Amino acid sequence: MNDEALELLANLVRCESTNPPGEEEHAAQEVAEYLHRHDVEVEWQRVAPGRTNLIVSLDSRETSVKRPTLLFCGHLDTVPIGDREWSHNPFAAEIVDGRLFGRGASDMKSGVAAMAVMMAQLRELRGSESWPIQLLLTAGEEVDSIGAEFFRRHGGMAGVGGVVIGEPTDGRVAIGHKGAYWVEMQCWGRTAHGSMPQLGVNAIDQVLKAAHLLYEANAHARPVADPVLGELTVAVTRIGGGIQTNMIPDQAFLQADMRFATQKQQQEVLKEWEDSLQRYQQSYEEFRYEYHSLLNRSPLLTPPSHPLIRVAQQLLGLDPESWRTVSYYTDGSVLSAPTNLPTLIYGPGDDRLAHQPDESVALSAYFAAIKFYRDLAVSYARGEWTLNQ
Ligand SMILES: [Zn+2]
Repeated sequence: MNDEALELLANLVRCESTNPPGEEEHAAQEVAEYLHRHDVEVEWQRVAPGRTNLIVSLDSRETSVKRPTLLFCGHLDTVPIGDREWSHNPFAAEIVDGRLFGRGASDMKSGVAAMAVMMAQLRELRGSESWPIQLLLTAGEEVDSIGAEFFRRHGGMAGVGGVVIGEPTDGRVAIGHKGAYWVEMQCWGRTAHGSMPQLGVNAIDQVLKAAHLLYEANAHARPVADPVLGELTVAVTRIGGGIQTNMIPDQAFLQADMRFATQKQQQEVLKEWEDSLQRYQQSYEEFRYEYHSLLNRSPLLTPPSHPLIRVAQQLLGLDPESWRTVSYYTDGSVLSAPTNLPTLIYGPGDDRLAHQPDESVALSAYFAAIKFYRDLAVSYARGEWTLNQ
């Protein structure tokens, strides 16, 4: 089984699914073929042309006593390879010194492959029993969670009692992450000759002012830090505008990335910012602005005392206090956060290598993840623990 598991991971890395544009269908095909060979049925959920979710279920849906489903989840897309040179071909899945190199090796084709291998193993173990275990492989996590949104909108979360996300955690158990709010602001001014700025209204100056007010709003509101997920962070990440060097620009924009531990933190800072923008407008009528959210992802947090987290720590032989959080957000924002489902994040990849050139995964970590997912699923399916707190 190890050779086949390795082959599946290598094939997945060779199968480009860079997002944008996504086109996860080929990667999904790779997993589907592997599972068919193991007599596991898959369900295709078309999300958009060339974009697909894959759903694998071990539940015959015929049992009278229905236990909540434990949903395993991974994403099929990857980020682009970037401009910096790689020393290994990002789509060749080269193996050097026990590590497999390639885009998605850590984030998160190793997690996806490990979960698919787990499903094949469970298929053999369960015989004709119905097990409340499901696997969801999504499209689009790296950009807009198009796949997870589609799955939830079409009733996919009905009956789900807990979620396991295979994002890279370097073999440790993670219990949550911050939410993300991305905002885009547009400012308008009035053109004039660059030599006579006093005759125009400089839209870039307005955007700079708004950026300054955003940082100030965070400093003033100083929302209370969450004991686990920490403080809200704000970063202005893009600024643009202007026409040419000798013209006062009449249009400019900024984008900012806000990471928050609680909705309250985010609301407090946004309100403070809006108030200060309005105060500024009252003192300077020419200030014209508009902003909207580009993305809004909920934070995720499961108590470390929850059975899903405790059992995971036990199976891995880890100290109960050794849990961590992750800096990125996951499909869990879309799938688990709305109904507060317990969620475990555990994956073989190393998150410090994610989105980097020469991304890689240790094969030993990959095989350990297969075993862990299988042990977790089997012990749950056999009723050794429940998803109730
Ligand atoms: Zn990821």
